[in-house]
Amino acid sequence: MPRIIALPLVCIVAAFSLSIGACGSARPSLHPDEPAPPPIEEALEPPAAAVYELNVPEGPRQGDPVFISVSSGAQGAFPSPAALAAMGLSLRLRYANGSLSPAAPLVAPPPPRRAVSLGGSQVQGSGPSAKPTARPVELAKQSLIVGFGALGIATRAPLGPASALLLHGDRVLAERDFVIAPRQFIAETLWLDRGLTSIRADPDPIKTEQAERYLKLIATVDPSAVFLNEGFVRPVAGNRRTSLFGTRRNFHYYGGGEAFSEHAGIDYGYPVGTPIVAAGRGRVVMAEDRIVTGLTVVIEHLPGVYTIYMHLSRMDVALGDLVERAAPIGLLGATGLATGPHLHWELRVLGVASDPEAWIGIDKVPYFRTINATIEGR
Ligand SMILES: [Zn+2]
Repeated sequence: MPRIIALPLVCIVAAFSLSIGACGSARPSLHPDEPAPPPIEEALEPPAAAVYELNVPEGPRQGDPVFISVSSGAQGAFPSPAALAAMGLSLRLRYANGSLSPAAPLVAPPPPRRAVSLGGSQVQGSGPSAKPTARPVELAKQSLIVGFGALGIATRAPLGPASALLLHGDRVLAERDFVIAPRQFIAETLWLDRGLTSIRADPDPIKTEQAERYLKLIATVDPSAVFLNEGFVRPVAGNRRTSLFGTRRNFHYYGGGEAFSEHAGIDYGYPVGTPIVAAGRGRVVMAEDRIVTGLTVVIEHLPGVYTIYMHLSRMDVALGDLVERAAPIGLLGATGLATGPHLHWELRVLGVASDPEAWIGIDKVPYFRTINATIEGR
């Protein structure tokens, strides 16, 4: 590890543990004759468990995506994103049967939607959208948030008691109990014609390659991919849902045979050419024509958090584009395996299919509500 990186990290972590704010004022010089700093693994030992507090949203259900944020009692000692990443802290869910969810890296909060000056309580009302009835906004809670992670509760997750865990390797630093509530998913039957049966059931090496690459992509967790800073918007202007999230599907094939699957997203039925927008801020990590899902856009919002837009008739973004919330990304269509024009909108969190509508609107995302409270006054 280069010393120029290791030294600031050591300093930040020491300040975090001991609640002293000496970082920056006594920056060590980097003279080549100085003794080497301690190994990075020791220096980045996380603070004692007592300083953490896990915040879990109220009443999550099967299929819900959840933000879990971590607060620290060590006020004024806020680790940098680099320090957090170097500590290697992660969040997991432990279900009633003892099984564990995939791990989300603990990452630092993204910047709020617009620049805002921090420093104690402030009165909202100085910006261009100032309201005359603005009230003081308490900033103390925000300053204590160390980081957060996004996790998905599987649609078939065990019901009842569960725990959110903050981990350093296998060691539990903090945990918080909560309860997973049940959710009813409906069943539907789809009759496929000869062409659609072929798309879904015929073996095809290109289809296999596309499926493997897609599954690998949505299972990728990049701790530096922190783009989302507020709740989602619905990607189409309207709420005409033609198939719900989590629906248990029974496909009847042309010429006989059937298959079962679970609908991983929500379908919105609208005419071909209806504008489609990005649900939230993020980076385009796939924009291509696929056999089963047609013209398909995948946007990465947070580590392991992706929204997917399928069956488009046109794509207006390319691989690597950074898109803002509500930015146009293409037009609705019926490409791929589609029985009619619709948008299939999907949310994957650490690979787990999660209800994308759960994150529509800032009030649905308490974590972002907190970090944006300085601007909104909510
Ligand atoms: Zn669908």
